[in-house]
Amino acid sequence: MQWEEGGRAEPPRFECPVWCALCRVGRARIRQVCQRGRGVLGLSADMLSIKLPQLFDIHQVPRVFREDGIISGYRHPRSSALDCILSSFQMTNETVNIWTHFLPTWYFLWRFSVLCSTLNFLSESYTWPLLVYMVLICLYPFTSSCAHTFSTMSAEARHICYFFDYGALSLYSLGCAISYGSYVMPDCWVNTWLHRHFVPIAIGNTLVCTSLSCYSRFLELQFPRKSKILRTGAFVYPFIFDNIPLFYRLLLCFGGSCSHTEALPSHCYHLLFAFLTCFLFASHLPERLAPGRFDYIGHSHQLFHICAVVGTHFQMEAVLADMTSRRAWLAAHSAVPSFLGTVGALALGFLLNLIILAFFSAALLRAPSHSGLYHITKHQPSAECKEH
Ligand SMILES: [Zn+2]
Repeated sequence: MQWEEGGRAEPPRFECPVWCALCRVGRARIRQVCQRGRGVLGLSADMLSIKLPQLFDIHQVPRVFREDGIISGYRHPRSSALDCILSSFQMTNETVNIWTHFLPTWYFLWRFSVLCSTLNFLSESYTWPLLVYMVLICLYPFTSSCAHTFSTMSAEARHICYFFDYGALSLYSLGCAISYGSYVMPDCWVNTWLHRHFVPIAIGNTLVCTSLSCYSRFLELQFPRKSKILRTGAFVYPFIFDNIPLFYRLLLCFGGSCSHTEALPSHCYHLLFAFLTCFLFASHLPERLAPGRFDYIGHSHQLFHICAVVGTHFQMEAVLADMTSRRAWLAAHSAVPSFLGTVGALALGFLLNLIILAFFSAALLRAPSHSGLYHITKHQPSAECKEH
């Protein structure tokens, strides 16, 4: 949008009908009105023209913003919130990261709204684990999309954005545990010690997962390998715990004693995509093999996002299939899910995770600039960036 200068000096008249806007006189009057409006608001023409933010190469941004194998397409490390939002419509090395989690958020919200119209989430306690799971599979891609959008406002903002991203992923693992504990548990494990303590252990796991993944950011610059191993382990550990009942069910199937098989293909597809997600996150392929070739499209984080949401889609289908096909059996052999064990567990996990995020954010803001969290200075972009 560009507000243009010029026009006649006479005061604008507002009785002009719509058709006159199409003629020359009408356009001139619109210009006058715009000019007067701008004068009243005290805005300059520059402020009303939208300019896409400038992009930078890897050597122009502080180390904390650099990604392995990504050479170009970096946003300014002190972008404004508006610049960050605008950059999601500009091709940067984060654009596809933003959209590959923003669009799936709407897909999962749509699936959730359809379930809301077909199931009775308010009064049927059997559906509460699914309710918690659906909330969390909408929350984690949305949080991730916001984190990628606003991560270049400052070094501190970048860390805090990703703290929230990790917190949402960690809560998603709790959602998986709540739904798996209620619908996916093998027949022979129902009412066992593990079944009764599955959700409380998963709450503990989210605390470990969030703490380790946030802490890994403090090691990122000085010990990048340790940081990567710690962060990968932080997410793999709750994933393995959540999937123990499923692994056992698959093991039983290989042994020839399968029951409730409707959901198993979707479970297998989910595991396949989960494996791919983990591989892409840890390997940084393909950009590691050809640095600079995949800066905008095709780098590992984008593929990681896509595999994560496709995996979540299959997981959701599997949970829905188990929930439907095992309903009668579970109703006869186990207690109905309680409010405390589902929504209550989510609320507790949410609260405890917020406390952890607040703790790490406070520690980050108190950290001195020589702690290794920042590259050149704590509050300024690199010298090269300041030139632009
Ligand atoms: Zn991401």
